[in-house]
Amino acid sequence: MSSLRHRLFAAGFAAASAVRANEWLRPLARGCGIILTFHHVRPWRERAFAPNRLLEITPEFLDRTLTTLKELGFELIALDDLPRRLSEKDAPPFAVLTFDDGYRDNLLYAMPVLRRHGAPWTMFVTANYADGAGRLWWCELEEALTRLKRVSIHVGGRRIECPCAGPDEKAKAFERLYWALRAEPEDRLLATVTLLADEAKVDAAALVRELCLTWDELKALAREPGVSIGAHTVTHAMLAKHSEDDAWREMVEGRAAIAAQLKVEVRHFAFPVGDPTSAGPRDFALARKAGFTTAVTTRPGHVFPEHGAHLHALPRISVNGLFQSEEALRGLLSGVPFLAWNRGRRLNVS
Ligand SMILES: [Zn+2]
Repeated sequence: MSSLRHRLFAAGFAAASAVRANEWLRPLARGCGIILTFHHVRPWRERAFAPNRLLEITPEFLDRTLTTLKELGFELIALDDLPRRLSEKDAPPFAVLTFDDGYRDNLLYAMPVLRRHGAPWTMFVTANYADGAGRLWWCELEEALTRLKRVSIHVGGRRIECPCAGPDEKAKAFERLYWALRAEPEDRLLATVTLLADEAKVDAAALVRELCLTWDELKALAREPGVSIGAHTVTHAMLAKHSEDDAWREMVEGRAAIAAQLKVEVRHFAFPVGDPTSAGPRDFALARKAGFTTAVTTRPGHVFPEHGAHLHALPRISVNGLFQSEEALRGLLSGVPFLAWNRGRRLNVS
């Protein structure tokens, strides 16, 4: 779906084989730890058009990921322990596990695997989703294009017209629409997806209720040993697209809703979407000012001791559903792909 992410993972693949050729790069590339990002964890439901597949892995691959981490000497730690860990010398590499948005499949399929491995983890909850409202707009877009045979819609001042019959046409239409929409202000993005969803008779609210945990389910989850709940805004807003006041409200009101509903302290924040177009230096400063202990992006990379001074702009590595292989995983854990991606820099915080 995301050409940016596709390019990264293509780089990851090249680097996975380069790991063997360039063993010498590894000490340079590997940080003191990593933060992994997960979205859906569920058995694969076979379908030809699945543009959001990168956001979904099977429970078996989660199990394989955790086993591989242990085999490579990574210690699974809680996000709470990350700041202290950055200043520890000679500690083994750490891995922090994070799950975004608050999906029900995390409870059904990920939690048993995480429990079996004794792994602590953090779930970042979007308050509106837990309310059974809000917009999983990329899922709405997938559903709409699954049903439509043709697309004709205004985005960003021009009309996108394309056939949308077979899986190839649908994939192309999704790619075009997704990136045209991502360039838009968020209200226009949502209004445009609403038009397509209405045309295709997609029930946006039903999608949220089907896919996302309710506050009652989250209450039970928050009591699980090793589980911490973090904030992920009220509406899943791409904060950098909004005014400072609105970005601030999204952060602190999302946290307040979780604290009020679940009676837990919320110490961590994840920027929705989390790439540089969705979270920048202003937003990192807001997360710090709001008093979060850490804030995580989706800027790809390992965590280095230098990140101790940038705890509100932490990089994460997405475990990508398109590349559920041991080889891809070992490439990412080596850090080598990110060395190229970040042009040799350890920090990508501006
Ligand atoms: Zn999210």
